[in-house]
Amino acid sequence: MSAQHEGGMAAVHRVVVLGAGYAGMAAAIQLAARVKRREDVQVTLVNAQERFTERMRLHMTATGRRLAELSIPDLLEGTGARFVCGWVTAVDADAKNVRIDDGRVLPYDTLVYALGGVADTAAVPGAEEHAYTLDGAQDAEVLADRLARLGSGTVVVAGGGLTGVESAAEIAERHPELDVVLLDRREPGAAMNPKARAYLQAALERLGVRVRGGAEVVKVLPGAVELADGESIAADVVLWTSGTRVSPLAAVAGLTVDERGRIVTDATLRSVSHPEVYAVGDAAAISQGYGVMHGTCQGGMPTGVHAAVSIVRALKGRRPKPFRFGYYHTPVSLGRHDAVVQFTHPDDSPRRICLTGRTAARYKEMVTAAPWPTYGRMKKMPASGAFWPRGGRFTRGREAR
Ligand SMILES: Cc1cc2nc3c(=O)[nH]c(=O)nc-3n(C[C@H](O)[C@H](O)[C@H](O)COP(=O)(O)OP(=O)(O)OC[C@H]3O[C@@H](n4cnc5c(N)ncnc54)[C@H](O)[C@@H]3O)c2cc1C
Repeated sequence: MSAQHEGGMAAVHRVVVLGAGYAGMAAAIQLAARVKRREDVQVTLVNAQERFTERMRLHMTATGRRLAELSIPDLLEGTGARFVCGWVTAVDADAKNVRIDDGRVLPYDTLVYALGGVADTAAVPGAEEHAYTLDGAQDAEVLADRLARLGSGTVVVAGGGLTGVESAAEIAERHPELDVVLLDRREPGAAMNPKARAYLQAALERLGVRVRGGAEVVKVLPGAVELADGESIAADVVLWTSGTRVSPLAAVAGLTVDERGRIVTDATLRSVSHPEVYAVGDAAAISQGYGVMHGTCQGGMPTGVHAAVSIVRALKGRRPKPFRFGYYHTPVSLGRHDAVVQFTHPDDSPRRICLTGRTAARYKEMVTAAPWPTYGRMKKMPASGAFWPRGGRFTRGREAR
């Protein structure tokens, strides 16, 4: 069903994409490029900021490096897609519209939900109030300012996942005057092969990061964190990178979500409860043969492209195809001149091969810099965005439900 023009003649199919992160941007640009010549399809992209946030660089922003000025409206220019800058406050899945904080209501026929996720500061008491996060450029800039003014003291990075490791390394390298402590239940790099893990841990040691595995933070206080065993660690700054949580908008709207609030999709990335809604990126719970995908840019961009291609197929009366994706690498920066890249099997388990040192740092920078030029290419040549590893036998045999 699409909106009828006055007089009941041509019908315009309204596609609204929520969120212009890595996945939403991929969906919007791919779709806009493919329907550029169609007057019966209108694409609208909604995002909280006009500037595209290179989220993969936020640990660098947190140490004072400025992000590039990447304008979303400029990128969309010439595609016919509309950009709406605003904060989405509600999705009405029955009336099929979206509410923006300035009072605007945007009706849709198809919705692409790509609102991403943020650090899970609700996981322990005090984190929301007292910890810094890397949820957006502004959060990272506030942290950068605080670190620059500290002079001396302790920075606790809570969460030894990849964001935690990259942040701890970056802060320690940029601020050798600060004592950086990395806390997690597991040891950093636990999912890597022994060689990559050892390299990562040695790099952290070289940078002076004090790593505490087996440490579970249960509370964040104004000047300290409390561990499960009762120990308290003094902290002038706490950076929370542990876990992710998603916006409650989808659950409130009545869409079927998983235990973490992510929209549960069918094999073609449509909501299992509301097939006119596609969910992509970190906000979606997407099952593959090896399990539910975890949030990454490497998987998020393909989900956006696939949703766009599926929408175009559906508009032509064709069946959308199942989405298939296999992981291929885990690149981790260790300051500005060092990194480790763990190559992976499609299910994200580590292969034997990895890159380290300056070669790995160059590889990581290439990966981080890739999305924006990729969108530029897709705008001119949409098919250029449709290449990613499908996962081979790890994802084969999936049928659209
Ligand atoms: C420091 C750091 C390093 C990382 N490094 C890597 C890496 O090397 N490789 C990798 O694959 N992944 C990496 N990631 C993870 C990766 O950034 C995420 O998986 C990815 O950003 C998810 O993309 P997304 O489009 O789903 O969401 P996001 O990129 O988070 O985009 C969501 C967008 O929606 C907007 N938004 C949210 N809510 C609203 C609302 N209510 N109204 C309006 N707009 C809204 C946000 O402002 C944002 O623009 C890293 C993450 C961090 C923090």
